[in-house]
Amino acid sequence: MNFDRIQEKLEILADAAKYDVSCSSSGGSRKNKGGLGNSQASGICHTYTEDGRCVSLLKILLTNHCIFDCAYCVSRKTNDVKRAAFTVEEVVELTINFYRRNYIEGLFLSSGIFKDSDTTMERLVRVAKKLRLEHNFNGYIHLKSIPGASDELMKEAGLYADRLSINIEIPTEQGLKLLAPDKSHSEMIKPMSLVKNELILYKEEKKIFRKVPKFAPAGQSTQMIVGATNETDLKIIKVADHFYQNFNLKRVYYSGYVPVLEDSRLPSIHSQVPMQRENRLYQADWLMRFYGFEANEIVEPSNPFLDLEIDPKLAWALRNRERFPVNINMAPKEMILRVPGIGTKSTGKILMARKFQKLTLENLKKMGVAVNRAKYFVSFEGTNVFNRFIDEQNFRNIILSGTKSKYQNPFSQQLTLF
Ligand code: SF4
Repeated sequence: MNFDRIQEKLEILADAAKYDVSCSSSGGSRKNKGGLGNSQASGICHTYTEDGRCVSLLKILLTNHCIFDCAYCVSRKTNDVKRAAFTVEEVVELTINFYRRNYIEGLFLSSGIFKDSDTTMERLVRVAKKLRLEHNFNGYIHLKSIPGASDELMKEAGLYADRLSINIEIPTEQGLKLLAPDKSHSEMIKPMSLVKNELILYKEEKKIFRKVPKFAPAGQSTQMIVGATNETDLKIIKVADHFYQNFNLKRVYYSGYVPVLEDSRLPSIHSQVPMQRENRLYQADWLMRFYGFEANEIVEPSNPFLDLEIDPKLAWALRNRERFPVNINMAPKEMILRVPGIGTKSTGKILMARKFQKLTLENLKKMGVAVNRAKYFVSFEGTNVFNRFIDEQNFRNIILSGTKSKYQNPFSQQLTLF
C-alpha cells in the first residue's frame, strides 16, 4: 500500500461523504462468533470526518467520480474538484486496520456512480462480501444503494450489510427533476421496495426454518435534503410518513442543505438552512413514530412550517388548549403521551404506578417528567378547567419564561400550588 496516496484518497473521499447524514448505527446487532469484532444496537453516532456530524464508522465514498450532475452535490460531474477512487481491496484493508486499532465500529460506504449503477453497486457489495467472508468481520456495515442497481445486486448487498439505504434527497419529484435531472423517485423506490419485500420474506422464513441467513438486520433508511427546494415542513413530514408506512423504514434523516455551489436553481451560497429547522423536523418525526401524532396535526395546512421557537409537541398543545388539562390519574395513554414534558418512558411509568396509587406532581417529578413544562397541562382531580381567557401567545410566553408565580396561572387555582 502506498500510504501517502491512501491518505490523500482518504482525505478526499471522507470529506465528500460528510454531507450524508444517514449513518446512524442504531439497530445493528451482530454477535461475535469467533471472528473479528461485533456491533451493538447502541445508537451511537460519532464521526470520522471533522465536521462533527457523524459516527464511529469509517464513513467514506468508494469514489467521488460521478456520471450524474445533481445540483446540490459537491461530487457532481460538472464540479471542478479533485477526484479519487478507492479499490475494493483498499477499503477492506482500511476498515480492518481502523477496526483493529479501535478507531471505528464499522463502515459506512457510499459512492458516486462510476460508469453505471451496477458497476458501482457491484464494487460496494464486493467490499462488504470480502469483509464478512474473507476477514470474518462482524462490525457494522452500512451500504448505500445505488439508484438503478439490479435486483440481484440489492439482494446480495442485504446478505452482507447490516443496513441499506437509498437517499430520496429531494422530497418531491418536481424538485428532484429540477436539481437532479438524471434521477427519478421511481428509480429510488424500486430498490427500497425490494429491500422491504426481502426483509418480510426472511422474517417469514425464520418462522419456519431454524437457520436463515440475516438480511439487512438493521433495516433500511433514507435521507431528505431540507431547504434546497421550497417544500414546506408539512410536505416533508408527509413524505417521511409515507416512507415509514409503506417501506418499513427504520429512519428518515433530514439534512439541512449546506450551500457549497453557486447555481441559479439553488438557494444562495450565503444562505443557510437553520439547524433549528432540521432539529424540529427530527422532533416531528419522533412524534409520528412514537407518540401517535399524524403529520397534519403536527403542522397545520394553513401554516405549513414548524415553529422554530418551540418544539412541535408544545406547539400542538398550545393550539389545542381545549384538550387540556389531562387528568394524569384517569386519562388514556394516548392523551398522556400528548402532554408536553412527558415522554414515552414516563408515560409507561405513570400507567403502571397509577394502578396502585393516586399520583401527584411530586410523583411525576420523581419519574423524570419535565414538570416545569408538564405542570401547565395536567390535573390530578379531573376538575381543573383550562382558562380560555389566556390566549396562545400569552400562554406561550408564560411557559417560555419558566417563572413559577408572577403570572396568572392558565389553569385553575389548584395548579398554582405547584
Ligand atoms: S448521484 Fe450521488 S454522487 Fe453523483 S452527483 Fe448525484 S448525489 Fe452526487
